[in-house]
Amino acid sequence: MIHAHASAMAKSLAAGDITSVELTQQHLDRITAVDGDVHAFLHVDTEGALSQAAAVDARRASGEALSPLAGVPLALKDVMTQKGIPTTAGSKILEGWRPPYDSTVVSKLKSAGIVILGKTNMDEFAMGSSTENSAYGPTHNPWDLERIPGGSGGGSAASLASFEAPLAIGTDTGGSIRQPAAVTGTVGVKPTYGGVSRYGLIAFSSSLDQAGPCARTVLDTAMLHEAIAGYDPHDSTSINAPVPQVVAAARKLDVKGMKIGVVKELSGAGYQDGVRARFEESLEELVKAGAEIVEVSCPNFEYALAAYYLIAPSECSSNLARFDSMRYGIRIGDDGVRGAEEVMNMTREVGFGKEVKRRIILGTYALSSGYYDAYYGSAQKVRTLITQDFINAFQQADVLVSPTCPTTAFKIGEKSDDPLAMYLNDIATIPVNMAGIGGMSLPCGLAPEDGLPVGFQIMSPAMKDDLMYQVGGTLEAALLSKWGQPILANAPVLGVTF
Ligand code: GLN
Repeated sequence: MIHAHASAMAKSLAAGDITSVELTQQHLDRITAVDGDVHAFLHVDTEGALSQAAAVDARRASGEALSPLAGVPLALKDVMTQKGIPTTAGSKILEGWRPPYDSTVVSKLKSAGIVILGKTNMDEFAMGSSTENSAYGPTHNPWDLERIPGGSGGGSAASLASFEAPLAIGTDTGGSIRQPAAVTGTVGVKPTYGGVSRYGLIAFSSSLDQAGPCARTVLDTAMLHEAIAGYDPHDSTSINAPVPQVVAAARKLDVKGMKIGVVKELSGAGYQDGVRARFEESLEELVKAGAEIVEVSCPNFEYALAAYYLIAPSECSSNLARFDSMRYGIRIGDDGVRGAEEVMNMTREVGFGKEVKRRIILGTYALSSGYYDAYYGSAQKVRTLITQDFINAFQQADVLVSPTCPTTAFKIGEKSDDPLAMYLNDIATIPVNMAGIGGMSLPCGLAPEDGLPVGFQIMSPAMKDDLMYQVGGTLEAALLSKWGQPILANAPVLGVTF
């Protein structure tokens, strides 16, 4: 039943129609069949997955009350530590590293009985928008194997779109959950900052990084959200408050009387025609469902990308200093004669890719004395202005919306030599991270010019993640009844028939 929704798999498991071992095996078989083409996974934990599945089956057989997704398989972005399982963050420098501990997200997945199939490919240290920056080769978009699956979490999104997994974990620093979801026709949510623990998430930019759920439907995403969210004393930025009731919100299917704000600055020039067309049609669906559309202006969003590319590299230049060849991963040139600094240099030269080096250099420069105020300091002021724009906009609307990305999936190699063109992919997703609020991307149709999926972004105020699920669930249901079939039924996805 690999093409079913996770919620349907959960029901079949609970009803005893299928065992977790059988379901897990079906996904492992699918991975064997298609992952040579897709390359969503960096590591498949066949034995571990089957033994986790057997353990859940045994707990169920003994009559134990299990959590809602118990026994359903999941793909884990390789930026999350999982005890004893190779974890690289897409980097050569961590090749062969097996973490001695579980991230909080992994602990929560394990206690929910969710079966971890393996680790998914990603841009090195989550820096990128196409998964081409992985040291282990790119992931291919199941809609068209010559195209990118988005990034940095391209492996997680591609595993969903190719039916290798019904659930996945991503992380989103500037769009790495939402942009891959948009270009693969899947759903991805960046929860409110602090809503899901960052303990064991290999840090890129700590004030922006946020782990979140990915799936093929809004409800499945909500169920996974509730499984991983919640306060964690191991993460000092974790929020100590009740988890928003996102599953109930996803089931409401009602937006009557809600005000939906279209962000004027996040559409228009630079957005592909088909992206705009599908976005506008989706607004009509929301109006038909009883919502009111208002236009809001967020004038400082214009500076979000520039500020992000100072703050994120600055934080990464500090976070990545720990990869010094002494504590983790590979060590090059240690012949017993060379000094530690030289070994460190040689290891970093080989271990880090081009984009990671670019950002470390940029961040180190932006934080250097004499430049700190002009660059990092100014970027932080812009960040405050963006947060203020959101506060103003949320006085006029319950949620805000925009296209998730300016374009559909581009070809592998098309932008890999042009960092600025690559950075522009996240123009609509970055403001959410800057303000720490919630953001979702769900599929809203195919662009007529290329037949590729378009993402619809919904942004909700901090700790009101339920609102984006309410609007997303309603829009998804409206579009499904209009299309008559899920969007992935249109994908030439490697032989799956509905
Ligand atoms: N594409 C953005 C970047 O390269 C965002 C990455 C992310 O969200 N991890 O930084």
